[in-house]
Amino acid sequence: MIFPIQEFENLETPFYYYDLKLLESTLKAIKEAAHYANYHVHYAVKANANPEILRVIQQAGLGVDCVSGGEIKAALNMGFAPSDIVFAGVGKSDREIEYALKSDIGCFNVESIPELEVIQMIASRLGCNANVALRVNPDIDAHTHHYITTGLEENKFGISMQMLEKAISYCYAQPNVKLIGLHFHIGSQITTNEPFRILCERINDLVKQFAEKGVVFTSINVGGGLGIDYDDPDRNPIPDFKDYFDTFNKYLKLSPKQHLHFELGRSIVAQCGSLITRVLYVKEGLKKKFVIVDAGMTDLIRPALYQAHHKIENITSKSDVTDVYDVVGPICESSDCFGQDETLPLTKRGDLLALRSAGAYGEIMASQYNCRNLPGSFAK
Ligand SMILES: *Cc1c(COP(=O)(O)O)cnc(C)c1O
Repeated sequence: MIFPIQEFENLETPFYYYDLKLLESTLKAIKEAAHYANYHVHYAVKANANPEILRVIQQAGLGVDCVSGGEIKAALNMGFAPSDIVFAGVGKSDREIEYALKSDIGCFNVESIPELEVIQMIASRLGCNANVALRVNPDIDAHTHHYITTGLEENKFGISMQMLEKAISYCYAQPNVKLIGLHFHIGSQITTNEPFRILCERINDLVKQFAEKGVVFTSINVGGGLGIDYDDPDRNPIPDFKDYFDTFNKYLKLSPKQHLHFELGRSIVAQCGSLITRVLYVKEGLKKKFVIVDAGMTDLIRPALYQAHHKIENITSKSDVTDVYDVVGPICESSDCFGQDETLPLTKRGDLLALRSAGAYGEIMASQYNCRNLPGSFAK
């Protein structure tokens, strides 16, 4: 990636830099790869709700997947059509449900029978109807696919396959609830096709099983989860969307009237973002050298939270000589570390580092711990 370093010089660090050209190319690749009839791509707003990012995605014609009333509000403000908004989440509050109903959103992805009861109650009070899709927990085997974290039987997400029939009957008994489909989301940062193929087979079985009972789903939502290349963002700046959508086209049996929805977050926005931070000090320890930067876990929490690693680049050093450093932030927590034994060009106070692939679950997860300022942003 080429960074507009000259323009960085006047900006206060740390800040997020977004390469909007790369975002546009990514969206174009999605459009080309998802060309199949009845395929609809939504953007999972929770990955990044920066207005500049949302604007580009809105202009590209995607829908959105929201997990809070605040995200619905951000999407509506940005001009997304209410009918293109789906609302997911295990713990929707009464106030959020009321707001979503009044906004006339496209669909609620419902995760439990108690939630259905509340949606029915509020919709009845408001005199409107709620389209719902039931989020099914497909219980895809974690032992063979350890990267899947949300599709297991015993976790808080979704309705188990055993309880699905009860939830469907419940929907049919509610006058203000209209069941339109099934929703799935099996995890995140999935880098092989295998889990998606298994998901397709689970869906085929479920759809067939319920079709025999006269239950027709017009909407199938397969969630998100497509992974990106954190190790080498310049080799793979755009994920292999063709392979991803082709997998669904190959394995999922859709009837002509069925619509297939996707909710991609990370794979759309991760690679276009970098956290730009300035080196404050280079400190020599007994055996190690530490590069202490002005960004910390408050600006990018993924390394501290999930031991994630973002590629680190010194974007201003002109040195041909390299050295090995631990790159750490200023926060009073040992987990505030971006990389150990990183080989970087000779690094000195004042250099700018880029923490790459930080466009997803970066800026949006920033906090003010230690009374720090939130990171700024610069999109171009
Ligand atoms: C987080 C989430 C997504 C997006 O996941 P990515 O891994 O970022 O693609 C999609 N759908 C639901 C329900 C989610 O919770």
